Amino acid sequence: MISESFKLDLLNRVDVVEVVGRHVQLRRAGANQLGLCPFHNEKTPSFTVSPAKQFYHCFGCGAHGNAIGFLMSYSGLGYVDAIKELAASVGMQVPEFQPRSPEEAQRREREGDLQSVMERAMEFYRGELKKSPRAIEYLKGRGLSGEIAARFRIGYAPDDWQGLRGAFASYDGKELVECGLVAEGEGKRYDRFRDRIMFPILSVRGAVIGFGGRVLEADKGAEGADRASPKYLNSPETPLFEKGREVYGLVQAREAIRAANRVLVVEGYLDVVALAQFGIGYAVATLGTATTPIHISKLLRLSDELVFCFDGDSAGRKAAWRALETSLPLATDAKPIRFMFLPEGEDPDSFVRSQGKEAFERRIGQARTLSDHLLGELRVEADLDTAEGRSRFLLRAKPLLGRVAAPILKLQLVKSVAELARVSQAEAEQLLEVRPTAAPARAAPPRIERSAVTLEWRLLVRAFAKPSLAREIDPGLLVRSDEDSGALKELIGLASGLQDPDALDDRMMADLIRDARHSEILSRAQAHLRMELKLEPEAAIAEFQEFLAALRKRESQEDQRLREKVLKGIATPEERARYLEQTGLQERGRPGEA
Ligand SMILES: [Zn+2]
Repeated sequence: MISESFKLDLLNRVDVVEVVGRHVQLRRAGANQLGLCPFHNEKTPSFTVSPAKQFYHCFGCGAHGNAIGFLMSYSGLGYVDAIKELAASVGMQVPEFQPRSPEEAQRREREGDLQSVMERAMEFYRGELKKSPRAIEYLKGRGLSGEIAARFRIGYAPDDWQGLRGAFASYDGKELVECGLVAEGEGKRYDRFRDRIMFPILSVRGAVIGFGGRVLEADKGAEGADRASPKYLNSPETPLFEKGREVYGLVQAREAIRAANRVLVVEGYLDVVALAQFGIGYAVATLGTATTPIHISKLLRLSDELVFCFDGDSAGRKAAWRALETSLPLATDAKPIRFMFLPEGEDPDSFVRSQGKEAFERRIGQARTLSDHLLGELRVEADLDTAEGRSRFLLRAKPLLGRVAAPILKLQLVKSVAELARVSQAEAEQLLEVRPTAAPARAAPPRIERSAVTLEWRLLVRAFAKPSLAREIDPGLLVRSDEDSGALKELIGLASGLQDPDALDDRMMADLIRDARHSEILSRAQAHLRMELKLEPEAAIAEFQEFLAALRKRESQEDQRLREKVLKGIATPEERARYLEQTGLQERGRPGEA
């Protein structure tokens, strides 16, 4: 539809620095511009924009692209809309869409990739919404404005077995089935989504990868009157769409998540949209699946606080328990995970509509912490007034506490469990088989993770999950002269020298570090990650980011001033020497030195 030559022409005329600069505060840093990344939560800038190469790149989260990609990711625009907006900003006109001959159209359609099929379906559904007073009425009845419907690109699938014929010249093409838009049965093809409000699911890059369809209910209908068709129907898993990975509404919520430093996870698409309509923009929804570890790590990277919101009924409590179990290994000491429950019979949509933003946020404020919720649920099932009840309580707590990785959280939980079960902390540690946090390390393996372990060691261990992570560490922050810092600096050097460090598998990595100066400690760290911590890569990466943030925080203000002066070249020779000494970056071969 939009020709490659037009696209290139456009990219030649816009300046990515200017496009990004409209949304992100940038300052010059050498040949590039530097700012706080809009795609992940950070306090120290790692987001660079290159005027020469005309792209942006974030060293923190890997976000990367040109001006079109930036608008798609940042503003949640589709490809075509992003191009239109960019073109308008430089006074270019997007060439008129050329109608094609039926043969040409058919051929193109067959060739067209799944992505454009999805885009076209979305536009079709959006057009159908405008034609359906009933669907519009339904959305209006939910308090949704046309503006918010456009922002979430909401559409309507008509009540027609083959409605998509109106959008695709070849309804029989295999792409429609591959995209999950059309189903086949008894020799016939039919639209999967019929008479439903359509919520496009966008990838982090802003492309349509799936749909969620919700039935229109008669608003005055009795509670749960119609159970014939499921309330929500989602696209099946397709080459574009993997449910356990994606969340609904992330593109639209990104800015609000950053501003609130909080992300709220709800169950339904309509909940996300309704909350946004009423001023709570930081909500996202999982896609008809239970929360996965990937969801949690992904969201914890975006903000410091993760709140799950569930309906107050028994289904809601069950879903909450599953989310809690998934969260245990990923919960960290620095970022709280909390659980909030709505009154019975309410969902976020109905609650925010009837009670408003402030009441909703008050409830978020009262959400239970993960540990409170865990202990609360365990207590419900055991009568702590009897010895049998307390044993049962301990037995149930044991596997759950075993899954908690964050050391401080674990210690707090053990203390609380001990108190409730009326045993001493030492007894609880023994019964729960939890390693006491402050005890000396066991003889073998030589190192275990405990609170005395240095931040440098923690970073080193986790960097082996994805060696390119090491490049994110500013060596200037490694001011200590111990072995861990030395090894970490060496790993940064190794990773920086490789074109694609992540392409190395474990064995290749082991070969590489065998000849390193700190080879012993490096291989111990690698083994520790694989053999003892056994973290999922996603979890290791999330923890790495957290320890990196802690490292950045550790730098005292004075050190920071010193470092900035040295980097800007305005430090006195004494300051410079002090800095170099602190960082262990002594200059070699200075005159007058042996
Ligand atoms: Zn980033």
